[in-house]
Amino acid sequence: MFGGLYSIEEHEAQEFIPVLLPETQQLIAEVQRNTRKRVVIKADPSIRNRGRAMYVVSEQSPDRHLIVYDPAESHHVDHLIAHEVGHIWQYSRAGPDARRLPVVRDEHVRAAMADLDDDLVRLRNMGLAWPSINRSVRAWVNATVAQLCFYPADACVERWLFAEHPGLRKAQERSIEAQVMNLHGALAPQVATYTPKKIVNVSNVLNCCFVQSLPDPLIRPSMLAPYQGTSYEQRAQELVSLMTGETTMLDLRSAFASADRWAATLNITRWFEWGAIDDCPPDQGPSSGKAIEANAAFIAVGDMLGIWGWGG
Ligand SMILES: [Zn+2]
Repeated sequence: MFGGLYSIEEHEAQEFIPVLLPETQQLIAEVQRNTRKRVVIKADPSIRNRGRAMYVVSEQSPDRHLIVYDPAESHHVDHLIAHEVGHIWQYSRAGPDARRLPVVRDEHVRAAMADLDDDLVRLRNMGLAWPSINRSVRAWVNATVAQLCFYPADACVERWLFAEHPGLRKAQERSIEAQVMNLHGALAPQVATYTPKKIVNVSNVLNCCFVQSLPDPLIRPSMLAPYQGTSYEQRAQELVSLMTGETTMLDLRSAFASADRWAATLNITRWFEWGAIDDCPPDQGPSSGKAIEANAAFIAVGDMLGIWGWGG
């Protein structure tokens, strides 16, 4: 059992009988053998807008690793599951003090509101009610913190996959391209109109960072084109240069250390804290269900469009 908004039982997710590439099956077999736990994969549409797939890291069951994925992403399932297996490796290799998750509590949301103050007044003057603004700030902070804290770990997983599992490159390439095209949605002018500047800036810088830190052969010109010549591009380069550790290694400690450096540079250290997996309170953490998000980046925009009735 595990706490949080995400609950398999609640959503009656279906256990997935995977028809996976031999390379993906091999990856799963290897992590099962090494950690002595079986990998259970379930399809659950309720994770949509929070991630394409997740490793439910909070469910520290003695006999299984739980991965959930959005069935709408079935055509990318090999890459998504291989990516989550990378997170299983990261967490299973990490020492107890590195097995952490970011947590966003009320005091962090209040700190973020203070940082966004002028822009929140601007939104209020545009006619948005304070309760909606409050909900939005929480969603924005959760999503931004998820991007900040998991992108370095995601980049390491993608580099490891590319280097160690060439049989999955085609699947990886297609899936990553779809993901990055989705991230470009955060550059839309209406997002800038209805979202505080700091959220828009940080979110797009982090998205650009994610693209820049992918393995070089996976980066298509169309992925970077929308960022070229913008302030996001330059800022992202600065953040990528701050990444610590060997980026093809699945070392959680250095991935989280990179996230801390990014937080300091972006001046958002007050928006979250790190908690040990077992200490995270229910319904906290950017991924709500204390799950590792494969791709949290679009949430900020998706939630915002939803809040404003555009059905993001
Ligand atoms: Zn991930």
